[in-house]
Amino acid sequence: MNPTTTWNFAAGPARLPDAVLERARDTLFVRGTDGASALERPFTGEAFRATLRRARERLAQLLDLPAGYHILFLAGGAMHQFALVPMNLLGGARRAAYADSGYWAQRAIAEACRYCEVVAAPGFEGDAPLAAPPAGQWDLPADCAYCHITPNETVDGLAYPALPDPGDIPLVADATSCLLTAPLDVARFGLLYASAQKNLGVAGLCVLVVREDLLERAAPAVPAALSYRRQAEADSCLNTPPTLAIHLAGLVFDWIAEAGGLAAMGAANRRKAATVYAAIDGSGGFYRAPVAAAHRSPVNVRFHLADDALTEPFLAAAAAHGLHNLRGHRQVGGLRASLYNAMPQAGADALAGFMAEFAGRHA
Ligand SMILES: *Cc1c(COP(=O)(O)O)cnc(C)c1O
Repeated sequence: MNPTTTWNFAAGPARLPDAVLERARDTLFVRGTDGASALERPFTGEAFRATLRRARERLAQLLDLPAGYHILFLAGGAMHQFALVPMNLLGGARRAAYADSGYWAQRAIAEACRYCEVVAAPGFEGDAPLAAPPAGQWDLPADCAYCHITPNETVDGLAYPALPDPGDIPLVADATSCLLTAPLDVARFGLLYASAQKNLGVAGLCVLVVREDLLERAAPAVPAALSYRRQAEADSCLNTPPTLAIHLAGLVFDWIAEAGGLAAMGAANRRKAATVYAAIDGSGGFYRAPVAAAHRSPVNVRFHLADDALTEPFLAAAAAHGLHNLRGHRQVGGLRASLYNAMPQAGADALAGFMAEFAGRHA
């Protein structure tokens, strides 16, 4: 791969590590001794099963997975899980708790309302600066089947500084934009899910980490291919899984392990985010971050220009500088720099340097 001088700050599908692109080139387009490349292998064959096994073992290692959890590799994205979580986890219950922390939480709630009564967990504090729901003990009705949170709100640029504790109620998290970006205590969760195109590879795959006892709750009407229990029993191969995306996720897991695991990812992500937030906070109000300092996402840095008329010129000048995909989500506007695991410090440095230069020219 040529050394990169342009940077892609897209929120997803997002940049992949250089080393993963190189290994992908050598494994996707070159046939092995079995006459097949990674794009061509049957999912029932030993070669793909070895890929799947290795990806699962690597992920379990990275997460320091406690006993009693299953890892599933399912087709689709997080949006599918917005419906599949209630279908699989309600059991006999009629209610579940959801924390409204922003854009993705609201989409999850909208879908859950079709399956159950949604009880509001401590939620979004709508006024600026934005803050995540409070940590500590959440006192929820005991008949809630689970409590759903979105620990990193990709669109809002908001992250939970600490996890809530819903007591005996299983904690379920849409971890799409934060899984593997920092160390995580899996034992706190009943279910974690993440679609792959932010930090785990390419679109088409959703990774789930689910506590074994929850597998028994699936409603009889859940389609077999969408049943956590049926897929766990079938090792995620009840039907053809997204083999390409699983292969690439395995390469990403290898890369994370070689780079020092989740502690190293967390430290690098904090440093990159600090670089860009410093460029915002040090601009004398030229750039502004709408999120309260303690609740700022380390991987989705959201900001805007005090003078909104400069937003389009900023985006055009940034692209001319090789800094791409900085436009904020259409729902909230402004700007957003996604700094997931695969973004090197050099990308954050290039952005911060450009921001200072642009502010100097227009202040
Ligand atoms: C990107 C994202 C989603 C949507 O994922 P899809 O794969 O498009 O379904 C959901 N939740 C969060 C937190 C996200 O970042």
